[in-house]
Amino acid sequence: MIPGARLILLGRQGAGKGTQCVRLSRHFVVPHISTGDMLRAAVREGTELGVLAKLVMDDGGLVGDEIMVGLIRERLSQPDTIGRGYILDGFPRTVPQAVALDDITADRPIDVVLDLDVPRQLVLERLSARRVCRDCGTNYVATDADKSLSICEVCGGDVLQRDDDTPEAIIHRLDLYEEQTAPLIEFYERQGRLAVIDGVATPDEVFRRLTAAVDAARRPA
Ligand SMILES: [Zn+2]
Repeated sequence: MIPGARLILLGRQGAGKGTQCVRLSRHFVVPHISTGDMLRAAVREGTELGVLAKLVMDDGGLVGDEIMVGLIRERLSQPDTIGRGYILDGFPRTVPQAVALDDITADRPIDVVLDLDVPRQLVLERLSARRVCRDCGTNYVATDADKSLSICEVCGGDVLQRDDDTPEAIIHRLDLYEEQTAPLIEFYERQGRLAVIDGVATPDEVFRRLTAAVDAARRPA
């Protein structure tokens, strides 16, 4: 069995992180821990944390460091992550979160921080073309020929642009990411723990680059 791994994957929305996380998770046989998914699940299930998180998000805010750190601390204390590791997606997002994570993982440090780099203009184009089925959630890419509403091939539902995929909203999210993540990237770079991966390639090639970076980081110096 391939050894587990303890990884952080950073990258702009639309860089292909979701796809690569799934592949890395299969390859290293470790759970993919997406804080976005965890928060959505907590909100859906109406847990104490979920109720709290929903209040913040409905207000247009970002869930604070304390809540996020608590969520991750709990998840990383479970047997699967202790035994095999994990891929963190969406956390840490700020330097204080990264400092807290170093404390949580003091006994079993992160192998490497992967920064999946796709230029801003390119993700902007990708996100603007994104369409989703309102009923079953299947993703589509709008082509120039067909930017209008269409019908889902899977369930026959309406395929629409998400409300939060307007150009203004996308630019706002990218600005926010840059503002928050630039100091984080500097933080990991200074410590020699960052591997920047060029994400402009086929999914297979990007995956090869990511696993090569993980292998290189784990090779004894
Ligand atoms: Zn559908």
